[in-house]
Amino acid sequence: MSNKPQLHQSMLDLLSQCGVAFQFRYGKLFDCGPDEIIKPPTLAMAVGTATHKAIEANYRAKIKTGVLMPTDEVEDVARDDLQRIKKDEGIYLAPEERLNKDKAVNVAEQTATKLAGLHAVTLAPDVDPIDVERRFVLEMPDYPIDLSGQIDLIEAGAVIDNKTSSSTPSVNAAKTLQMAMYALAYKVDPTLGNGQLPDRVAIHALVKLKNPKAVSIDDKPTDEWLSPLMYRIERFVSIIKAAQAGHNVFVPAPATDRDWMCTRRYCPYHDRCPHWTKR
Ligand code: SF4
Repeated sequence: MSNKPQLHQSMLDLLSQCGVAFQFRYGKLFDCGPDEIIKPPTLAMAVGTATHKAIEANYRAKIKTGVLMPTDEVEDVARDDLQRIKKDEGIYLAPEERLNKDKAVNVAEQTATKLAGLHAVTLAPDVDPIDVERRFVLEMPDYPIDLSGQIDLIEAGAVIDNKTSSSTPSVNAAKTLQMAMYALAYKVDPTLGNGQLPDRVAIHALVKLKNPKAVSIDDKPTDEWLSPLMYRIERFVSIIKAAQAGHNVFVPAPATDRDWMCTRRYCPYHDRCPHWTKR
């Protein structure tokens, strides 16, 4: 395996949201930034990670034993993982959350527990998993980077991403760069697609409403899906090369009322960013 930096889909997303945040987080990895600042996850990210952990445990049990775990045990995994994150990684709290830190973390723990239980009784029973959290590295001989990622769930002929979100995903939610990258990883894996795209990609979303709900959005990938992905990779490489040559290419997020990213609540780098507008 090459020792080139590995490009993950979340890096493409962050670069498109805010180039400055990208440089704070990944500048050193791509040799175009002075340091690498890894901040603890936000509460929303911690909820997502803990819920993912519980879903993974449930599917691993089904792969190993043929049956899913009892729902209360799935919920326990989510609760325990939220506590682990708090203890091992810390959690980035927005200023208003810091006013009542214990309450904010407790609410997050309850949310993760509830979402994990919801998944166990709604989406999980209809899934026949063959692998979970499958890591891939796609070597890119003509590029200075390789592609990497981790597919949440694989069924026969399908790749599925588990998400937690605060709003209901649209019918086109599976037409993303992330799912295109997963479909490509499936295609080139001789033990999976062996040259064929999956028949189906899907988003399994747990929506954090007052009454949470589970939603499955399916789509059928085609080779045309891969064109925007390859274009974005080319563009990424161009930006990184320009940055390495000393050009100022990292564009800050638009600090408008409609943009959620450039706020102290969502950007963990705001306290050292010269572009932050004190929102
Ligand atoms: S404060 Fe705004 S411009 Fe600065 S890194 Fe964060 S999102 Fe980007």
